[in-house]
Amino acid sequence: MDGNLTNTEIREMAQRQPKIYSIVKYGDAVLEKSAAPVERFDAEFADLCEDMFASMYQAQGVGLAAPQIGKSIRLAVVDVTGGKNPEARIVLANPEIIHAEGEKREEEGCLSIPGFRGYVIRPQFVTVRAQDARGEFFEMRGEDLLARAFCHEIDHLNGILFLQHLSMLKRDLIRRKIKKLRKQGEW
Ligand SMILES: [Zn+2]
Repeated sequence: MDGNLTNTEIREMAQRQPKIYSIVKYGDAVLEKSAAPVERFDAEFADLCEDMFASMYQAQGVGLAAPQIGKSIRLAVVDVTGGKNPEARIVLANPEIIHAEGEKREEEGCLSIPGFRGYVIRPQFVTVRAQDARGEFFEMRGEDLLARAFCHEIDHLNGILFLQHLSMLKRDLIRRKIKKLRKQGEW
């Protein structure tokens, strides 16, 4: 498949309004299972990628993984500029970390665990190999926040949340607070 779009498809894409998905919160089983590979890189998939960017910007995130909108597939979008630079938009389909080096400890949060943050040690440099919205393979090296986003989003595709990188004490504290919020109907 050459991936070229017909004029009709281009017109349809231009007219289409992105769908804003609501973000699945911690406690939903979809966040804690391993996602299935992306196999079809068609127009519908390209639309889904656009919808994920739109949903991520709406939620003011710098990364969003498909399980966070309830879709258990190996897809994530990242934009550490938060939509300020169109060239910073990265689609990661079937991503893998092929190289990591260094260490950096920074505070991290997650759109699925709103209101809670914690310090997580991640590699300072990460190189990923992934497919883009059209299924083309590429490699990209990220540093600092971008490296962190790659790791955080790829963790999501493996059912891992940043809570699992925290100390047991900190993790249990956050879990207890969420449980309380859920009882109060605020989660
Ligand atoms: Zn997250």
